[in-house]
Amino acid sequence: MAHNFMSTLTASFAMPAAENPTVAVMDAVFAHHGMNARYLNCEIQPRSLGDAVRGALAMGFAGFNCSLPHKVAVVEYLDELAPSAAIIGAVNCVVITDGRLIGENTDGKGFVESLRTVADPGGQRLTIFGAGGAARAIAIESALAGAASITIVNTTESRGRELVALINEHTPAAADFVLWDHRYAVPATTNIVINATSIGLFPDIEARLNIEPATLLSSMVVADVIPNPPRTLLLQDAAANGCTTLDGMGMLVNQGRVAIKLWTGVDVDGRIMRQTLESLFA
Ligand code: NDP
Repeated sequence: MAHNFMSTLTASFAMPAAENPTVAVMDAVFAHHGMNARYLNCEIQPRSLGDAVRGALAMGFAGFNCSLPHKVAVVEYLDELAPSAAIIGAVNCVVITDGRLIGENTDGKGFVESLRTVADPGGQRLTIFGAGGAARAIAIESALAGAASITIVNTTESRGRELVALINEHTPAAADFVLWDHRYAVPATTNIVINATSIGLFPDIEARLNIEPATLLSSMVVADVIPNPPRTLLLQDAAANGCTTLDGMGMLVNQGRVAIKLWTGVDVDGRIMRQTLESLFA
């Protein structure tokens, strides 16, 4: 049976398909597993989103990804939201099953899968920098995976407090907020430190988080969402202190693996996806 995929993309992601990293990664892994599947890159204007979703359904697509600005707007065209997507309030992956459109958020799931390669979030104390889309997905999914406490550190107070309220109201984890207006010392009780801001993303690779590097202890796991470059200054500082580190490429690969599993039921080899990404980001 043929599986079709559509990716709804924004004007800011308007690269030719052959240069789109997601398309290249999906093509590589589908070819590796001999899957009869295609992943297309479609640039959808906000006014056409409803038509695009109805088109995907009409054409028998297995599902599609949504990037900004469609992640929230797409919700009104869906039949159902998976539990974490409902809490996060944003969808980056839609699964079409028996004519029903189900909204998922695979960013946080991808992060937790990546995290589980080094530590289980269950019972852990997390410190997360940032309160945007990536931070929301990571915080909610980690909380649903059993994290004991989550401290949100953010420069915009309203955004940070909104995320803290979301975690406290909808998950069993205990969340608190720290306004990031000073050089932050990571509490020694923290088990897992996560940069979920855009600090360090190419081309600003010399940018550093405003933290005391010496407070990253060897007992901590330090994770970064930045996929490019994978070895950010945060991860270099953490590794120098003996911390266990986790890069953003793992999260990127795993959110794609989770999406493919949801669409096709196939567990694909993340190493092929990572190798393809590494060759593109080299
Ligand atoms: P948003 O714009 O929604 O949020 C950005 C966050 O970063 C905000 O909390 C913002 O703070 C904070 N921030 C940005 N610059 C600074 C700075 N100089 N100092 C302090 N805080 C700062 O972006 P997303 O959450 O969607 O994405 C964040 C990053 O995550 C991106 O770099 C993206 O590439 C990456 N990402 C990686 C994924 C992966 O699979 N590896 C998946 C999704 C995203 P404030 O609220 O104060 O503005």
